[in-house]
Amino acid sequence: MNRRDFLKITAAISTFPGQIAIAESLTGSAGASVKLLNPYADVDWGSWGSYKAALHLHTLQSDGWNSVREVTGAYKKAGYSIMSITDHDFFKPNLHVRPGELPPEKASPYPENPKPENYPANTTWPWTDYGGHSPERLDMVGIQGNELSYRHHINSYFNDYGVWYEKTNYDVPYEGVVDENGKEIWEDDQLLALAAAKNSMKGNVEGLGAIFSARLKAGSLAILNHPGVEDSYRWWQRQSLDWYVERFEKHSFDYLIGMEVTNNNTPRRAYDEALWDQLLARFMPARPIWGFGNDDMHKLFSTKQTFNVFYLDKCTSENVHAAMQKGHFCFCRSTRSIDYTVNDCQLDTFPQIQSIAVDQDAGTIKINAVDYDEIKWISSPLSLEPIDDYKTSSQPWEVGNVVHTGSTLDYRNTPGIKNYVRAELLRNDGSHTQRTFTNPFGIVKI
Ligand SMILES: [Zn+2]
Ligand SMILES: [Zn+2]
Repeated sequence: MNRRDFLKITAAISTFPGQIAIAESLTGSAGASVKLLNPYADVDWGSWGSYKAALHLHTLQSDGWNSVREVTGAYKKAGYSIMSITDHDFFKPNLHVRPGELPPEKASPYPENPKPENYPANTTWPWTDYGGHSPERLDMVGIQGNELSYRHHINSYFNDYGVWYEKTNYDVPYEGVVDENGKEIWEDDQLLALAAAKNSMKGNVEGLGAIFSARLKAGSLAILNHPGVEDSYRWWQRQSLDWYVERFEKHSFDYLIGMEVTNNNTPRRAYDEALWDQLLARFMPARPIWGFGNDDMHKLFSTKQTFNVFYLDKCTSENVHAAMQKGHFCFCRSTRSIDYTVNDCQLDTFPQIQSIAVDQDAGTIKINAVDYDEIKWISSPLSLEPIDDYKTSSQPWEVGNVVHTGSTLDYRNTPGIKNYVRAELLRNDGSHTQRTFTNPFGIVKI
């Protein structure tokens, strides 16, 4: 079959949805000189629950080493309530079985015939079509997802979009792939396609009155993955800061909601974190970029611990979708790897946020938490100029500026606070560090 026959490119929409408007949220500020935009404003800390989310997982359906049933079972056992299997769109199943790294009896027989229409770019969804239990049976929320892996990796959620191309030569990254009209496909085409893709949400999400979400609607969501993966990989090319700025300018917050800030594959953490701070310095408060922590699990027996914690009234698919748009979550990362296949798999203890209280009159944010040693408050980096070569350096940009430590921040009177502030809770267990990151609070000078 001709590779073009495999391409399923939804026709790109011709106009970009506008950037979100925040003017409404600024009314009623009672003459204050600074207004804080709190992404957690709608969270009812007294009655809502915390739910762990793994939003970037691979299985035998692409280049992972475990079956759908093994992966979902292991994460359920490890306390996760929300999962998205995001197999690479451009891999066929059993990548590690074919060269003999896994024995043939481990091979996945899925998907069975008839294959999904856009196989092999299809999503691993529903899980029951791939030998897994349903999310309902596991008492979890499952999210249909795909890792768009042609050029910059993009995780897409709540839709069935994928691109496939046949790699004729693994030594050549990004060999051209074109749509049915002969036009080469780029990241922007994929983002626009998934924005328009048939999605698995029904109807509109109710109650999106939050400050950051004036014009949100239900639909596909996307994040940019692991920017700091080393440029030496043949399948990956690092992009410039300007490239990220362009993507977040060009693509609406309606669907491009954020980026991975911690990922299993980017141990040199300063790269992704500094990029996030540099982007927040440029886009906040008008255009939030939510941060995600994803372990990008390929092997259950060895993966770093990094995940998201969602704050939800009830753990339903609709609520998770809304929380992803509104930033109702934080993310966590430990420096320690874990083996999910052993029976007494011991997860690290992470700093846990119990409430975040904003007092607009007093000008304070107060975090109540347990299991932490220190809370750092971070605002825009002191310099927005590059400090090293982004292609080769492990830290080409300055990270955000620590403006305060302690559980309460006086955001009006603390020097160094610019257009946003975010918090990091740190814990050290003697040999490893566990961190919990909030999403950014916007600072609006009135
Ligand atoms: Zn990736
Ligand atoms: Zn991945």
